[in-house]
Amino acid sequence: MQERVLVTGANGFIASHITKLLLEHGFAVRGTVRNPLKADTIGFLKALPGASNLELVSANLNDEGAFSDYTADVDYVIHTASPFVIDVENVERDLVKPAVRGTVSALEATAKSSRVKRVVLTSSMAAITDAPDSRVLTEADWNEKSSVTRNPYYYSKTQAERAAWAFTKANRTGFDLVVINPFMVAGPSLSTGVSTSNQLFIDVANGQYPALMALNWGFVDVREVADAHVRAMKAPNAKGRYICSAGNMDMHQITNIMRSVGVRGKLPSFDMSGRIGTATMKLLSHFQPSGIGSYLRTHLGGIPRFDNSKIQRDLGIEFRDVEETIYDTVHDLIEWGHLST
Ligand code: NDP
Repeated sequence: MQERVLVTGANGFIASHITKLLLEHGFAVRGTVRNPLKADTIGFLKALPGASNLELVSANLNDEGAFSDYTADVDYVIHTASPFVIDVENVERDLVKPAVRGTVSALEATAKSSRVKRVVLTSSMAAITDAPDSRVLTEADWNEKSSVTRNPYYYSKTQAERAAWAFTKANRTGFDLVVINPFMVAGPSLSTGVSTSNQLFIDVANGQYPALMALNWGFVDVREVADAHVRAMKAPNAKGRYICSAGNMDMHQITNIMRSVGVRGKLPSFDMSGRIGTATMKLLSHFQPSGIGSYLRTHLGGIPRFDNSKIQRDLGIEFRDVEETIYDTVHDLIEWGHLST
């Protein structure tokens, strides 16, 4: 019998790749979107190969029982929907509540179904750490520092993942929970929309970064993130959390790749990545919107270190080189008309 998967936020950057992969593997997919009538944001899903096995339904994370009608006849749930915004007006209302409430709703609905075997939750490296750490981070680490004023998006992801584990501990559920914790996700998009993570490349080209700063990110390709979710859903030995990140790249390297591809715009060239430059940028960060300011103060000068061996060992994920992902992302943004050459 064909197995069915509920994917929340199916039109999102990551979830649309998950949906595509599930359809390719022969699953039926029930995808939730905020508004199934909004053809401009969901039309591309209906054009995916195998979309005759895709059903789109409506759900808002802020609604009580958002997913309660959708779990009775599914075998797996992949919960990806969560607001991914760095700077918001009201942190509780715009970030924490939908992230936590949405996660708990997805688990409550699943607990009522006798059929669901496993829930895969898209958490984040943001639930593991608030900032680059001098230690090598593993799945045993938890972000203890973020708050409504310090890296609020990170706080929302940490609170949501904590709520998920607390739910499975407090309730005897017939399903198990597996969590994927990706770092910055880049790669080609299946739709014209630009994800918050791929927006980085547009911001670099648009002169949003006035200088080359000491910023270094862990990156993972969206195609591997999707693969990790599908493998985590099926693998009998999948358990606990999985750091999902291929390697690092800094702002110098990203800018060099963009230049080599011929991206036009205001690519930064003035170097502020040394010690004095970093101290100056930290001071200037106080003039930025608060979410961006706290991100800069906690990340400038740091190099993320992480152990990604568990996901390779348990789920057999083979990460492609970060350089290949960044090249593919830049070419894809050019093809969609978001970057010019
Ligand atoms: P997107 O913004 O592309 O996708 C987010 C999805 O969540 C969208 O479908 C969005 O719907 C939905 N959503 C947000 N708020 C609500 C709401 N109130 N009610 C219903 N749906 C809502 O982001 P990504 O694909 O990049 O992220 C997907 C998941 O992965 C998130 O949980 C994010 O935190 C996590 N993640 C992302 C990383 C990255 O670098 N991209 C890194 C680590 C984790 P709509 O389109 O209507 O806004």
